[in-house]
Amino acid sequence: MKRLFANLFFMAITTASLIACNSNTGNKEETTKKAGITETAWGEHDAKKISLFTLTNSKGTEVKITNYGGTVTSFVTADKNGKQSGIVIGFDSLAGYLAKPPYFGALIGRYGNRIGNAKFTLDNKTYQLAANDGKNHLHGGLKGFDKVVWDASATTDSVPSLILHYVSKDGEEGYPGNLKATVEYTLTDENELKIEYTAETDKATPVNLTNHSYFNLTGDVNNTILDHTLMIDADNYTPVDNTLIPTGEIKQVKGTPFDFITPQKIGSRINSVKGGYDHNWVLNKKDSSLQRVAVLSDSISGRQMEVFTTEPGLQFYTGNFLDGKLTNRDGTSIKQHTALCLETQHFPDSPNKPEFPSTILKPGEKYHTVTIYKVSVPK
Ligand code: BGC
Repeated sequence: MKRLFANLFFMAITTASLIACNSNTGNKEETTKKAGITETAWGEHDAKKISLFTLTNSKGTEVKITNYGGTVTSFVTADKNGKQSGIVIGFDSLAGYLAKPPYFGALIGRYGNRIGNAKFTLDNKTYQLAANDGKNHLHGGLKGFDKVVWDASATTDSVPSLILHYVSKDGEEGYPGNLKATVEYTLTDENELKIEYTAETDKATPVNLTNHSYFNLTGDVNNTILDHTLMIDADNYTPVDNTLIPTGEIKQVKGTPFDFITPQKIGSRINSVKGGYDHNWVLNKKDSSLQRVAVLSDSISGRQMEVFTTEPGLQFYTGNFLDGKLTNRDGTSIKQHTALCLETQHFPDSPNKPEFPSTILKPGEKYHTVTIYKVSVPK
């Protein structure tokens, strides 16, 4: 696929009218916001140009994404008072990402989450992967999809989209087959960040792509996420061993701190979960259609984020390993539980767990998944 870097400051195509209410007069005024996408030079890596793309919708919501790691660096939305602030952890320069933070906002591949003992057997052949998490393999290895440079092209049909391509070579990080991956990020006027993943391979290989954004809906990383409320539409989860590899059991959440069927404060039972939440929930949805699977809310900002996915699993991670050493873009130190991830995915260690839904993509098949993060301020 031809690399199509849009011109610097590639500009808005669509415009939309917003009706705003003037609080003094009570009159309705029309303001026009421009929806579109711009590109800014952001440095170089692996002898390739890095850009920062800014996607804006007609509501003034803004998402910034770099083609380094396909990383969402910023997601700015209005709170209940109309004040715009950022709801994901991120940096304003490439240097922050080159310092290898724990996957802030990045695309994860070829396999999201862990593969036990960093190996799997497929068609009678055992593949050895990098052990980059103790003896296990995590998030695609030493140089996963979060650390590579993606080819990028921007479009603004009716809403802004960024299309990213990456070809992962046969043998890369130990995986079989040349895998052509495409990820399309779209920001809709309904404040949805839609992520569409597709991939094709020339040899059978495990594939499990996701995005690793760390959310704090308050817009201020001085607050923890322990007072956020979460609903996960899942009756079961996959318990793990002490290296965070699923035991293979599918366990009911009922009567445990893993029960988020009705909305629960994240902090209310976290102390009964050793290390904090870092588990895969087995979503109740029965097929691969796009369905709402989780709702996160914060009363300070009034924001709510709904998660829709075609995937069967959701890794809910409460930023347990964040230790205050890194600082967010505004200089605030990123401490434990100051952000959380809701990673839509297939289950961890599926290549070694035949009882889990298969993650094997074969030649001639098309990998296709969709996830949407939709932010709103319910009345
Ligand atoms: C994993 C955590 C890990 C984090 C950052 C999450 O997806 O489940 O165990 O620490 O990513 O690497």
